[in-house]
Amino acid sequence: NSSAPMVKVAGSDIDGILRGKYLQKEKFESAATKGLGFCSVIFGWDSEDQCYDNVQFTGNHTGYPDIGAKPDLGTFRLIPWENNTPFFLIDFYKTDDPNKPLPICPRNLLKKVIKDCREAGFEPMMGMEFEWYNYLENNQTIYEKDFMNLSPLTNGMFGYSLLRVASNSEYANTLAALKDYGIPLEGLHTETGPGVYEVAIQFSDALEAADRAILFKLATKEIGAKFGIMASFMAKPSTQLPGCSGHMHQNFQSLDGKTNLFADSKGEISETFKSFLAGQLQLLPEFLPFFAPTINSYKRLVDGYWAPTTPTWGYDNRTVAIRVIKGGKATRSEFRVTGSDVNPYIAIAASFAAGLYGVKNKLKLTQEPIVGNSYDLYKKGLVPRLPRTLSESTELLAKSDIAKELLGEEFIDHFVQTRRWEYRTFNHQVHRWETQRYFEVI
Ligand code: GLU
Ligand code: MG
Ligand code: MG
Repeated sequence: NSSAPMVKVAGSDIDGILRGKYLQKEKFESAATKGLGFCSVIFGWDSEDQCYDNVQFTGNHTGYPDIGAKPDLGTFRLIPWENNTPFFLIDFYKTDDPNKPLPICPRNLLKKVIKDCREAGFEPMMGMEFEWYNYLENNQTIYEKDFMNLSPLTNGMFGYSLLRVASNSEYANTLAALKDYGIPLEGLHTETGPGVYEVAIQFSDALEAADRAILFKLATKEIGAKFGIMASFMAKPSTQLPGCSGHMHQNFQSLDGKTNLFADSKGEISETFKSFLAGQLQLLPEFLPFFAPTINSYKRLVDGYWAPTTPTWGYDNRTVAIRVIKGGKATRSEFRVTGSDVNPYIAIAASFAAGLYGVKNKLKLTQEPIVGNSYDLYKKGLVPRLPRTLSESTELLAKSDIAKELLGEEFIDHFVQTRRWEYRTFNHQVHRWETQRYFEVI
């Protein structure tokens, strides 16, 4: 029931950016069974000598061969704001065998972790939240895109403003209608900061949650563009303003979906939940690049902005890494480290893998819940500080045998290479901060 001439297919790259194509309907039908080729540049990196070669991240130039891609027919939806164009997510596989998933494909990684959870008797459940800045579009050219003097959609810091949403009600209503696109929102409000919005996406199984999350970000950008609004999910677009979180509400349910395994019968948190937290807290420093994957992510993880700086937990505490919410069937954790710049597949996979590691190894939750402000704890030496840069966290991850064991050596090697590349690219640039600080006075 779509008059659109083409079918759109897209899959996640390593950064959580959807890469796709429009296909003629006949071509799509053959792709649905036989798969289609995608240039491996999706998993290459900015430079040609970093191109992904079939299976190995060789570091040698490969000539950009194809990798295989297959639409997941279960992800079908129509795009309401694009003439009801049919849309499917794709998974990547090895070119020589359509049944062999490509281990560096983020959606495959999450499927593997979900399988591990289910084999241990747990159904991982998740609801993601995003905060993001909305700016009025201006005429940046591709050669001069500095995004420095953009006007925010609304002025002022005021959160929970009804006025700010109402004055752009068509934009908000179109976002609310995303349920017709398979992204049901639990709520939408303005967050602290000029032009900042926040949504909570409804709770679901982990794969559905990741699909909704990645689709939400692109949908918001596309819908925003129709209203002359530029939506940015950068973790910290401005030094002085609050950053943007991508909080993850999560728990384990029984496989039949009837029981929340994070709650015990007395309204307290279960032993499973405690071990889950212990696993996540232990692995947080070495897993940080999954939750803070960009150079910019680390500018958000600073004291005093409701974002965590330490591997800590507490009951309904918004200054710690993991905020535990007790509430019978709704008992869950809010994992607060993730910014809105994460790749949802990777962040969700890594968070559940770390929690499952704690449960399987029956780790004890030795840290007492933090009450009140957590920010000065590391200054007093009571808890460690999380790594402060992408480079620091990436080198910890590179040494993590547990990461390789839980997420696969091939994925970790590739991910580490890409983070190192990101850091190298950043580090050899002369930044605005340097010229502002040194040019005139030195
Ligand atoms: N904006 C904060 C952050 O970047 C989160 C605020 C909140 O708790 O919703 O983490
Ligand atoms: Mg918020
Ligand atoms: Mg939140």
